[in-house]
Amino acid sequence: MLGLMMADQLRVASVLEHVAKWHGDTEIVSRLPEGSIHRYTYAAARQRSKQLAQALLKAGIQNGDRVGTLAWNTHRHFELYFGVAGIGAVCHTINPRLFPEQLVYIINHAQDRLLFFDLTFLPLVEKLAPLCPKVEKWVLMAGSQHLPATSGLPGLCSYEDLLAAESADYEWPMFDENTACSLCYTSGTTDQPKGVLYSHRSTVLHALSISLPDGLGCSARDVVMPVVPMFHVNAWGLPYAAPLNGAKLVLPGAGMDAASLYELFETEGVTFSAGVPTIWLGLLQFMREGQRRFTTLQRTIVGGSSCPPALMAAFENELGVTITHAWGMTETSPLGTSGHLKAKHRNLTPAESLPIRVKQGRAIFGVDMKIVGDDGRELSQDGVAFGDLLVRGPWVVRDYFGSGTPGELTADGWFRTGDVATIDPDGYMQITDRSKDVIKSGGEWISSIDLENLAVAHPAVAEAAVIGVPSAKWAERPLLVVVRRPGMDVAAQELLDFFRGKVAKFWEPDAVEFVEQLPHTATGKLLKTQLRKDFAGYELP
Ligand code: ADP
Repeated sequence: MLGLMMADQLRVASVLEHVAKWHGDTEIVSRLPEGSIHRYTYAAARQRSKQLAQALLKAGIQNGDRVGTLAWNTHRHFELYFGVAGIGAVCHTINPRLFPEQLVYIINHAQDRLLFFDLTFLPLVEKLAPLCPKVEKWVLMAGSQHLPATSGLPGLCSYEDLLAAESADYEWPMFDENTACSLCYTSGTTDQPKGVLYSHRSTVLHALSISLPDGLGCSARDVVMPVVPMFHVNAWGLPYAAPLNGAKLVLPGAGMDAASLYELFETEGVTFSAGVPTIWLGLLQFMREGQRRFTTLQRTIVGGSSCPPALMAAFENELGVTITHAWGMTETSPLGTSGHLKAKHRNLTPAESLPIRVKQGRAIFGVDMKIVGDDGRELSQDGVAFGDLLVRGPWVVRDYFGSGTPGELTADGWFRTGDVATIDPDGYMQITDRSKDVIKSGGEWISSIDLENLAVAHPAVAEAAVIGVPSAKWAERPLLVVVRRPGMDVAAQELLDFFRGKVAKFWEPDAVEFVEQLPHTATGKLLKTQLRKDFAGYELP
């Protein structure tokens, strides 16, 4: 027997309608790539998203067509999220930090018909356009005064002109909630980028779940500033969760440096933020240098790579800001776990609870997870056994977009994350490695992430990476590769001694190499494939 409740379809546009109706005067504030601060309300955002929708329809965009963006976090990008999805088309956010060849591959693979870009990216798109002949129109996300005098970009026009020609008198169409709404490509650390095609249903359910207190947590009392870019897994869902809850949204544009971020935190009264560890490491240094304090910021989410425990402790002890560690990936929309404590941890001091909070956290409702061994059998959740992390749920990818090959699913429908993890008896998952990065020494696994976290706790270490190098006796042994902090000196032996007593004896790295810098992916993750190439043939002392 079916239930007798309304079968309203979950649609992204409903989030915008909700916030415009019930929080119409709440603000969206953006730092524009053109240099100024832009400020308006959710009610105005709805109007302009509808004008955009009409412009897209006039340009012949139909249900399922892809519309690309190369853009920072701004109100215009926000309007594209809702205007494009609202008419049943697909908002394809592209990461401008990828290599040009990858950008060309992604734009052509997605068959983007229109491409919206920020002023910052004009020189870039002029190079890309001849290699992306399927793009019919390039739209500069600015007023017409910023249009270049000459340009080889087909159909070039300004975003503001496009909107000015349209009225806001428009009703969002109804369609099935499984309709695609946005598309993100993985950063292709290991092979070609792969497209993850989100649906209205997966996006709205994810936004609801991350809003929960033990998800990322978001309310109408928050002022939310996603520092994670809107071109990176939809800024972890915050451009949907903030309006869904009626929270003020602050969008930092291209100003990702510590000084610009700090200015917005303070002037806009930001209470809650989110970003990768690199951002917070930079900000911590900036705060220390000027002995600065946050007036309103209460908490931030750190994810994308492992959050160093020292960073978490420093934010709490020195700045009074709580860091919550979270894990996810493009394929999981992205949130899978977050590291809030349970009632049983209530009496722990911050120092006592730190070992729990540095783990990547508990599954949020909607995502199930387990770890399995090489034979595919589930491993014990004892916090010690580590194995391949599998996940499933309504916002986890099933197949990659236009790949023609099946996704990374097991026969019984779980997604292989490619991460190696432990899960403890309280359900806290901890990533120990990417499966390709794990070091196998004498048949035992060594976590490169744990060793890296320890190494960066040494005052002379700016950044560290640990990779496996061949060993006749043990098959593989850990090599520590270190970038020294400017002006600081430290000998290899001192660093090796630093591990003594902090990890199992066989985990201690065998050697240290010093380098000027470490290779990174476009999303700021350590590029260990490159590092392994750099140290191919390395002989342990
Ligand atoms: P890509 O997989 O293309 O590098 P993603 O942004 O989707 O790009 O990255 C997902 C991966 O990032 C995860 O599979 C995991 O390895 C890593 N990751 C994400 N969050 C964390 C975290 N909190 N701690 C450690 N690793 C993380």
